[in-house]
Amino acid sequence: MTLRARTPHIDLHTHSTASDGTIPPDELMRHAAAVGLDVIALTDHDTTAGWTKAAAALPSGLTLLPGAEISCSWLSPDAASSGRPISIHLLAYLFDPTEPRFRDARARVRRSRTDRGMRIVELLQADGYDITWTEVAEYAGTAPIGRPHVAHALLLRGLVPDMTTAFMPEWLGRRYRVPKANIDVFDAVRLVREAGGVPVLAHPKASVRGRIVSDELIRKLAAAGLAGLEADHADHDAAQRAQVRSLAREAGLFVTGSSDFHGSHKTIRLGENATTTEEVYAQIVAAGKGSSVLSSRFSAA
Ligand code: AMP
Ligand code: ZN
Ligand code: FE
Ligand code: FE
Repeated sequence: MTLRARTPHIDLHTHSTASDGTIPPDELMRHAAAVGLDVIALTDHDTTAGWTKAAAALPSGLTLLPGAEISCSWLSPDAASSGRPISIHLLAYLFDPTEPRFRDARARVRRSRTDRGMRIVELLQADGYDITWTEVAEYAGTAPIGRPHVAHALLLRGLVPDMTTAFMPEWLGRRYRVPKANIDVFDAVRLVREAGGVPVLAHPKASVRGRIVSDELIRKLAAAGLAGLEADHADHDAAQRAQVRSLAREAGLFVTGSSDFHGSHKTIRLGENATTTEEVYAQIVAAGKGSSVLSSRFSAA
C-alpha cells in the first residue's frame, strides 16, 4: 500500500499591495505558507508588479503561480441592451509579462484607473467632501489606483465608518461611480492566449457585484479560448456555484475555487473557498506557456 500525501491546498486568486490588497507580496507568500497553502497565485489587478518580490520571498514548500486579474468589459451590440458595458474580471495565469500587446493593454487600463480615481476625487470635492488626490495616490503608492484606495481615504477622513459603506450606492457604488476604460473581454482572452497565458473568468455569476454576462456569452468565450470558470468564490451563493459547475461541464471548461484575498480590505481569509483540484492545477500548468511556476530554491526535492 502506498501512502498518499494530503490533498494540496491551492488558492488561485489573491491580491497584494501591488494592487488593492493590504499585504505586500513578500509578506503574502509567508502568510500563504503559514496558513498551509501549497500553491498560491498572485493575481493583482492589471499588473504583474508584485511577481518578483513574491518569487524572491517564497518559503520552502510553497509554489507561486504568476497571474493577474484583468479588468474587462462586454458591450452587447444588441440595440435592446442598456448601452452600458458589463464589467468582467478575467484571471490570467502563466502569461509572458513582456509580451508587448498584452503589456500595453494592461498599461492602458492602469492609466484609465488613475484618470478615474482623479475624477472620483473631483466629484467628491465638488460635493464639499474634504479629500485630496494626494492622499489617495500616496496610499496607493505605485499600485494601479483602485476604488479601495479611495474608500480607504474616505475611511481615514471619517466620512464612512467602514469599507463596506464606502461601496454602497451613496458612495462609490453609484453616486461617485465613474467608469474606467476596460479591455473588451474577447480581446483580453485573445491577448492572454497570445502571451502564452491561461484565461479563467473570475466570479462569473456574482450578481451582487452588478450585471453579469449570459451563459450564451460564456459559451462564445469558451469557443474563443477561455479555459476555465471560477465556481467557488465568496460572491457566489450555493446555487450560483452549482450553475457555474454545470455550465463549465457543458462548455468544456475547468472550474476553480479561490479566496480573492485582499488583506484587511475584505473580511475573506486567505485559503477560503480554495477548492481548485490538483488535476485542474496541472491542466493550467500544462497550458501555460508564457512563464513558469516558481518554487523556493531551498525547498526539498
Ligand atoms: P476597481 O477594480 O478599482 O473598480 O475596484 C474593485 C475592487 O473593489 C474589487 O476588486 C474589490 O477589491 C473592491 N470592492 C468592491 N466591492 C467592495 C465592497 N463592497 N467592500 C470592499 N471592497 C470592495
Ligand atoms: Zn481588488
Ligand atoms: Fe474580481
Ligand atoms: Fe480579485
